[in-house]
Amino acid sequence: MTRRLVVLGGAGFLGSHLCDHLLDRGDGVVCVDDFSTGRRANVAHLDGHPRFAVVEADVSRVIPVEGRIDGVFHLASPASPPDYLARPLQTLAVGSEGTRLGLELAATHGVRFLLASTSEVYGDPAVHPQVESYWGNVNPVGPRSVYDEAKRFAEALSMAHRRAKGTDVAIARIFNTYGPRLRPDDGRVVSNFVVQALRGDDLTVYGDGSQTRSLCYVADEVAGLVALFDSDLAGPVNIGNPDEYTMLELARTVVTLTGSRAGIVHQPLPVDDPTRRRPDITLARRALGWAPSTSLADGLARTVAFFGANEGRPDGPAIAGYR
Ligand code: NAD
Ligand code: UDP
Repeated sequence: MTRRLVVLGGAGFLGSHLCDHLLDRGDGVVCVDDFSTGRRANVAHLDGHPRFAVVEADVSRVIPVEGRIDGVFHLASPASPPDYLARPLQTLAVGSEGTRLGLELAATHGVRFLLASTSEVYGDPAVHPQVESYWGNVNPVGPRSVYDEAKRFAEALSMAHRRAKGTDVAIARIFNTYGPRLRPDDGRVVSNFVVQALRGDDLTVYGDGSQTRSLCYVADEVAGLVALFDSDLAGPVNIGNPDEYTMLELARTVVTLTGSRAGIVHQPLPVDDPTRRRPDITLARRALGWAPSTSLADGLARTVAFFGANEGRPDGPAIAGYR
């Protein structure tokens, strides 16, 4: 029988690729989204698909999904720093109340619940690379705390549900992921740099650019999330690509790859911007048999192709269904 899986936040960047992946392997998908930071266009190519449905709802208020379900993926949350800084209360609400409602839905149906948590739970990490056993270094009252603490609370709530009610949970700690369907105005580093390079605008490196991130291509990330969902592991499990770059290296790579004449300008570093980030993925390799396989050059080339063909240029049309 076809499994019917609920994807909260399914019209977002990662969520829409997850919907595609699940449908491609034969599952049915109910995408629940309020379109606050995601876009209808991300799932418009699935309109009329016999195993796909979209429900518009704010999941921190209600998750109006009727009928049998076989699993819940909770990806609903603003994820880009400019997005969550602009929606502080909504971010805390979807991480807390949204997670509670998602867990209740899974518990009611006796099915598995996967939480899309984040490397941000490690804050500005004192341990490098980050292992799942590291508790993190988060400023609980700074501007980023609306996201970091919401995700830390969501992890705590998931584990409490597991202990108190036996709910089958999985916690994925997702590290910086990029690829087609990032919004051009999303504000994250890869979309900013690629769009700036294609438009011939100077690339905005925050601070001196010595801070590092480890970037995972979206198809690899989605494969990791699905491998975790299909396992019986509760986690948390780091799902990311351990290849680490400074943001200045990334800017130069994007300029070279696009053949852009754009220069590089430095802008102020955001408050509490983590200085380094790199996942230890020993657990995912061993327990899930998963590891990323897309190089930064290949992943960036596909991302550049997406923005170049579509939205990177000032007159670029909106796109639906890019894979
Ligand atoms: P995104 O903003 O593109 O997607 C989030 C989706 O959730 C959007 O479609 C948005 O409209 C929806 N949403 C937000 N609040 C909602 C609400 N209250 N009710 C219903 N829908 C709501 O971001 P993304 O990059 O696709 O991230 C997806 C998930 O993965 C997030 O939970 C994020 O925290 C997590 N994550 C992503 C990354 C990354 O690098 N992309 C890294 C770590 C964690
Ligand atoms: N960044 C940058 N220029 C930009 C956008 C981001 O230098 O135009 C930096 C940012 O300061 C951070 C890194 O790139 O050090 C990753 O930022 P992003 O917002 O993508 O994700 P984060 O890991 O901070 O959540």
